Amino acid sequence: MFSATRSLIVGHVLWLVLLSALSFASPEMPQAKAETPPSVSKFCYDRLSSLPGKFDKDALKEICSKVVVLDSCHSENGSPIFYYERKGTDTSSGKRILSISLIHGDEHPSGSVNRAWMIRLSHIKPRNTWRVIPIVNPDGMAAMTRYNNRGVDLNRNFPSHDWDRLAQKYWRIKTHKDKRRYPGQVAGSEKETQCIMKQIADFKPNFIISVHTPLGVLDFDGPKVHPPNFRPLPWYGIGTYPGSLGRYMWVDHKVPVLTVELHQKGLQKLSEFDHLQDMTGTVAIQASRLLQKEKN
Ligand SMILES: [Zn+2]
Repeated sequence: MFSATRSLIVGHVLWLVLLSALSFASPEMPQAKAETPPSVSKFCYDRLSSLPGKFDKDALKEICSKVVVLDSCHSENGSPIFYYERKGTDTSSGKRILSISLIHGDEHPSGSVNRAWMIRLSHIKPRNTWRVIPIVNPDGMAAMTRYNNRGVDLNRNFPSHDWDRLAQKYWRIKTHKDKRRYPGQVAGSEKETQCIMKQIADFKPNFIISVHTPLGVLDFDGPKVHPPNFRPLPWYGIGTYPGSLGRYMWVDHKVPVLTVELHQKGLQKLSEFDHLQDMTGTVAIQASRLLQKEKN
C-alpha cells in the first residue's frame, strides 16, 4: 500500500516536472540549427570555386553545406550574403574576428584569401572565434564591377558620423565624381551595407579584417600595435574616407579594422595565406589588450 502510494506520488511529481519543463523551458532551449538550403550551398560553392587559385574541393563543399544567411542578408539582385563561423578555443583571451572580402566586386583575389581561411578554419582549432563573409557584393562580383548593381561603392556607404556632411562632397571634389567611388544618395542606403551592419550587431566583433586588391599593403585603423612583419605586404597607413568601413568602425565605434590590400595577383603560396591569418589573429589580440588598457 505504502509503496503503491509512493510510486503514485513519484509518478505525479515526475509528470509535473515534465510538464513544467515543456511549458517553461522549451522556448529557452537551444533550437536545432536550420539546415543550409541547397540553393545557398550551391551558390557558395559555385561562386567560391570560381575565384582564382587552387583549393580543396571536398573541404569547400563541406563548408558550403554549413554556411548561414542572416535574415534579409541578400543583395539587391537577391543573392544570399552567406557567412561561415568557427568558434575559438581560447575562451579567456580569444577574440571575435570578422573577416570580409569582395565588398568591391571586381577584386576577385581578395575572395581567395577568405576561401583559404575558411578551409583552414574547418580543420584547425583556432584560438579566436572567426566569422567569414567572403562575398559581400555578389552582384558586383558577377558583373565584375567595384560598385553594387545600383552603382554604389559599398565601402563609402557606411553611416559614419560625417557622411551627411562629407561623403558626397568628397566624391564631387576629391574624386571628380569618379563613378567607381559613388557613396550613394543616403548613408547606409544599400542592402549589402545594411547586411554588414546587421552582421556587426549580431556578431559583435572585436576586430575586423577587410580584404581588397591591388595596393599591396596592410593598412591598419586601430591602436598603435607593433607592426607585424609580413614580407609580401608592408605595413602602411592609407587612412579612412567618409563612409568607409574603417571610418565607421574604428573612428566612430573603436573597433579596429585591418585592411589587407593584396597585389593585383593576390597571394600565391599557401603558406602565405596561413601566415597572414595567424598574424592577423595576433594583431587582434594585441589591439584588444591596448584598447583594454586605455579603458582602465
Ligand atoms: Zn577594394
